[in-house]
Amino acid sequence: MAQYDLIIVGAGPAGMTAAIYAARADLSVLLLDQLAPGGNIINTNEIQNYPGVGFINGAELAIQMFEQVCMLGVEFDYRTVTSIEDRGEEKLVHCLEDEAVFSARAVIIATGTQSNRLHCEGEDRFTGNGISWCAICDGAQYEGKDVVVIGGGNSAVEESIYLAGIVNKLTVVTMFDLTADPSACDKLRAMPNVTVYPYQDILEFLGEDKLEGVRFKSTKEDATERTVKCDGVFEYIGLQPTAGFCESLGILDRGIITTDAQMRTSMPGVFACGDIIVKQLRQVATACGDGAVAAHNAAAYVESLRK
Ligand SMILES: Cc1cc2nc3c(=O)[nH]c(=O)nc-3n(C[C@H](O)[C@H](O)[C@H](O)COP(=O)(O)OP(=O)(O)OC[C@H]3O[C@@H](n4cnc5c(N)ncnc54)[C@H](O)[C@@H]3O)c2cc1C
Repeated sequence: MAQYDLIIVGAGPAGMTAAIYAARADLSVLLLDQLAPGGNIINTNEIQNYPGVGFINGAELAIQMFEQVCMLGVEFDYRTVTSIEDRGEEKLVHCLEDEAVFSARAVIIATGTQSNRLHCEGEDRFTGNGISWCAICDGAQYEGKDVVVIGGGNSAVEESIYLAGIVNKLTVVTMFDLTADPSACDKLRAMPNVTVYPYQDILEFLGEDKLEGVRFKSTKEDATERTVKCDGVFEYIGLQPTAGFCESLGILDRGIITTDAQMRTSMPGVFACGDIIVKQLRQVATACGDGAVAAHNAAAYVESLRK
């Protein structure tokens, strides 16, 4: 069985930063991801808030990060991790492909979250090119344009307030009524460029090469159908943490991982970083910061086992 000082699960910004720091701390590192390295930034058309690279396409930033990881001699493998087994000073990482098992002294979990999707007609066509899941990231692209937000919870309402200050016309379409904090809902409803359509089902996203609108239907008896023209759509229908494979470690709290300031979980030798942990702001810059801290402390942990 292949053995490493450290295995990092997830090659998004958090995992790749952890890999860079761990390699520079002289650990033998295996970085695993079920998909191409990059995580959520791969689906981002333009990143405008990561320092030092100006405005950059998400996939391009992912490639640059991964090249740096490879330059430092980190081993990468395409694997879907299905479980992590705690054997005290040894952790076994089980993978789906070929039922492979890898051994390490420490593990960093950096598997992020996935935004829930509607799975309706046209969604795949406009993912990252008209449909976004991040207003802080992509909102500025729609300055003076018309935008639809889908969802009515806290994220949807707060991001709508933010977007309404940028865009020309904002339409909020939600399956129920607005369910966010009442003062936030009142603030949104009072904004002059905002229209809210509650109790609606999204039917399809319209357009060929470019998103042109959204068609939806009332869930009330009248079942009225409407089409709203727009240049962009933001979906806020919940986030799905991707740490189910850690269940047996007992480190999950409602699907996500709580860490201390050193990115340690409650399981010695298991660290976590990035969007998968309990935190305030899920962004590339904060994921990288978490990754650096996790690797720094994983290196100290591995060193402590050698003494
Ligand atoms: C559409 C969109 C646009 C965004 N735009 C911006 C922006 O402009 N600026 C910004 O700062 N932030 C932006 N963000 C947020 C940013 O992408 C995230 O904060 C960041 O990617 C989190 O990094 P991470 O490494 O923690 O997780 P992720 O990027 O989610 O990476 C997790 C990785 O883990 C892998 N993984 C998951 N489960 C397993 C498993 N079982 N086995 C193996 N691998 C696994 C996944 O394949 C993935 O590659 C955006 C997010 C979205 C969705």
